[in-house]
Amino acid sequence: MSWEDGIWKGVPYTPGEQPKRDNLIKLNTNECPYPPAPGVEKKLKEMEFGRFRLYPDPEASSLVDALSGYYHVPSDQIFVGIGSDDVLAMAFLTFFRNGREILFPNITYSFYDVWANLYNIPFRQIPLKEDFSIDPSDYKRENGGVVIANPNAPTSLFMPLSGIREILDANRESVVIVDEAYIDFGGETALPLIDEYENLLVVRTFSKSRAMAGMRIGYAFGSKKLIGYLQDAKFSFNSYTMNMPSLELGVEAVKDDAYFKEVCGKIVATRDRVAEELKALGFTMPKSSTNFLFASHEKVPAKELFEAMKKEGILVRFFDKPILNRYLRITIGTDEQMDTMITFLKGYLASK
Ligand code: PMP
Repeated sequence: MSWEDGIWKGVPYTPGEQPKRDNLIKLNTNECPYPPAPGVEKKLKEMEFGRFRLYPDPEASSLVDALSGYYHVPSDQIFVGIGSDDVLAMAFLTFFRNGREILFPNITYSFYDVWANLYNIPFRQIPLKEDFSIDPSDYKRENGGVVIANPNAPTSLFMPLSGIREILDANRESVVIVDEAYIDFGGETALPLIDEYENLLVVRTFSKSRAMAGMRIGYAFGSKKLIGYLQDAKFSFNSYTMNMPSLELGVEAVKDDAYFKEVCGKIVATRDRVAEELKALGFTMPKSSTNFLFASHEKVPAKELFEAMKKEGILVRFFDKPILNRYLRITIGTDEQMDTMITFLKGYLASK
């Protein structure tokens, strides 16, 4: 017997690198290249320092109410947490305890299997189709829950809402999580379906489209009953998940709808232009509905490109796993950053 016997020894999730160097073009973690809304900065400067001696509101009411007003969903159908990672982790902990296998695609956000392992949840990874799409009929088998990222990552592909509905119709007796981290860049949200399906949780984040990854704000919509269960788990785990600045700055971000739409519009326009330019250089990629491109070059291996770009100070994401290792996941930056990348790739590929 050793003191180490009873310790969890799983393999943790590996987040994208946050390099210590400043002068990089950082396109590796799907962050927003633009700053948060101007009102967020104003609020930050006005914040009363002395209040930080107090605990934040455990109900996170100001943020929940702001989201409620913006999305027209009652406050008791909204849950918030420390980024959508926290919301998803809490959802796995709360909803998947029936001992049956949960289902998610074999290529998707690679945190899902980590949480499943952490909580001893059995799971099955369902292969995507050849074109990286999800076949809803694969999710019509016995299961203890379903998790779908829509749009999916890192493939960037969106599944039409009819597919989500098909999965929901086949799974009335288990919780279905739709992770919409990238929904503001394309696709159709499953949000309206929470009124029809009591077992649907729609998860979102401020990290990408609201340019606030550093503040760690995630949220979810669901039926009153489903959100109630999540709240009970949260209050059995940590009452004060959201800190005071994140709550207050999150509210300011929600208030500025014009800025939010402008940022999303710019990223989508840059994405679609860069996709065409990459295709002209010999890359292929699924049609992106996200703030990143999942691109593979017809001749040059992804790993080689990843390393050459890194040397040049352009950091993208490379997954050293079968299938994925043919691709680079390139976050959409500013037009200027993308131009620098394209110029480098043009030169590099011409020299091959
Ligand atoms: N879901 C998906 C599909 C993601 O790509 C990410 C970003 N890594 C997250 C959830 C988590 O984002 P955050 O915790 O920053 O909200």
